[in-house]
Formats: sequence, structure tokens, C-alpha cells
Amino acid sequence: MDIAEVSFASPYFQLEQVAEGVYAAIVRGGTGAWGNAGIVDLGDETLVFDTFFTPPAAQSLREAAETLTGRSPAYVINSHFHADHVFGNQVFDDAIIVSTTRTYELMSEQLPAMLEEVRVHPPSQEEVVGDRQDPRLRRDRAMLAADYRAMEVALPTLRLRLPDLTFERRLVFHGARYTAELLTFGGGHTPSDAILYLPSIATAFTADIVQVDFHPSTNIANPDEWLTILEQVDKLGLQHVIPGHGPVGRGEHVRIMRQYLVDLRQLVTQARLDSPTTDYLSTIQEPEKYRTWSAAPFFPQNLSNMDRWYAHRQERGKAE
Ligand SMILES: [Zn+2]
Repeated sequence: MDIAEVSFASPYFQLEQVAEGVYAAIVRGGTGAWGNAGIVDLGDETLVFDTFFTPPAAQSLREAAETLTGRSPAYVINSHFHADHVFGNQVFDDAIIVSTTRTYELMSEQLPAMLEEVRVHPPSQEEVVGDRQDPRLRRDRAMLAADYRAMEVALPTLRLRLPDLTFERRLVFHGARYTAELLTFGGGHTPSDAILYLPSIATAFTADIVQVDFHPSTNIANPDEWLTILEQVDKLGLQHVIPGHGPVGRGEHVRIMRQYLVDLRQLVTQARLDSPTTDYLSTIQEPEKYRTWSAAPFFPQNLSNMDRWYAHRQERGKAE
């Protein structure tokens, strides 16, 4: 069936039905939802994939799940430890929250400090002066600041709710309608990334491993592992991809994401060869095909992340 809009109105996201009982919750930017989520009616139980950046957005997701499936969610997945995918967890206190073991560790090690940091230095108040001239950067920065503002408003009641159940490689939900495989191929975007795969409809909720028309964050990424993971995901032969950011995509978006990482690697490597003594990253032009993508401020950050990564790797190679 074609992707259809569903009649559940939320200020935080737009719901799209990908298949019978399978819904993508595509965020509305700047509302405090930030990272896409999803709902799967397994047939006898309801599963929610990721919980947004704030409890109010997650509350709306919960209401959507209850309206669409007629039950409270039994299972909630945390795809990776990034706040924009897990800070709504507390709304699903009565469900079983599931993540990889590594994601559980990262959440418990890193998120309390992040919450404290946000309390002391509210990110929405940061001003990035260099972006004033570029309307695209200005627009995307404003959206990000609005998401942070929504989180700062929710902060007094925001409580870190950790997963209840962890897995190492694969966990399968055997529903009456769908079998859903929760898979991890390791970590690329973060040290541990999981996807939810529905083989009978060739569909996956990929979280931030695949983003559609949206510059990914590579701050703590391992690009080599990420490329390997994308090869594994590509082998699934997906028809529908529900990404962590951006609109619902198709199988080709797995390969486009892969090409993006390959392009970044080529751009920084070539720039360093061409003018090794100057500020070579500033000589790189954003390729035409990425200029329509959202989250434009991530592009220059991604160049410097990639440069650092491949420079380090070269050093490691020499030492070995
Ligand atoms: Zn992420």
C-alpha cells in the first residue's frame, strides 16, 4: 500500500501509515520532538520505537499509539543513547523499555551529566554569530534552539528513565500480525545503534543510522563502522525506511547515506592533499546534492569530525 497520512493530529509530529498497523511519527521541527519515532501494532501487543526529546512530545506519541491500536504500549525501544530519542521515556513507565546493553550503559553514564549541563548552560541561549549571513544556517539553528527551549521548559519534571531489558545482537518480538526483529550491527553513529526490522513488509525503523535529506550528526561517530553497518542494512533489501531524521524514505536512502559518508571522507582527504599547510577544510564546498538537506550546520562540523577521524587513523596506521 502507499504511505498514507493518518488522522491523529499532534502538534509534535505527523503520523504516516507505512503498512497496516505500522506508523512513522515524523517530527515537526522546533517542537521538542526532534528525533523521529514509530508505532507498530504487532497484532496482540503495541510497540513504540524511540520516545522523542521531551515528555510532552512523548505523551502525544503515547496517545497516538493508544488511539491507533486500542492498547497501551507494552514495549518501548531506545535505538541509541542520544537524548532526542530517549528523553520521553518516563511517559512509558508502565511499559518494558528495551535497548542494547551498551546503550543502557551509555545512557546511565552520560545522560545525567548532560541533564546537569543543560540546567547550568541552557543550549537555546547559545548564539552562533558566524551563521547570521546564511539564511539556511540561520533557519536550522533557530529550529534547533526551539527544540532545546522546549526541553528546557520540560526540564523541571524530566526524569531519566533507563531501559528495563537489554540485548546483545538480536531480539525478536513474535506478534500475531508481525514478527519484529530488533537488531544491532554494532555502533557507527554512536557506540551502539539498533534498528527495528519488519521482514514481512521489508521495512525498518533505522533511527540515526539512516537519515533522509538531513545531515547526520557525526560528533562521536565511527565512520568506518558506520559504513559497514550500512552495508549490512542494505542487504536487508528494504522498501520502506523510517529514518531518525527527515521524511520516510526507501531502500535507496541507505545507499545515499553511505555515499554521504564516502563523499565526506573523499572531500577531507583530497583537501588535505591539495593544501596541507592552510586551513584546508574551509576550502571545501558543500556538494550541490546536499544543499537542500536540513541540519545544514552539521556539514562543516562533519567535515572536521571526518578530518579528525581519518587523520587519527593515519597516525594509528603508521604506529602499527
Ligand atoms: Zn542520534
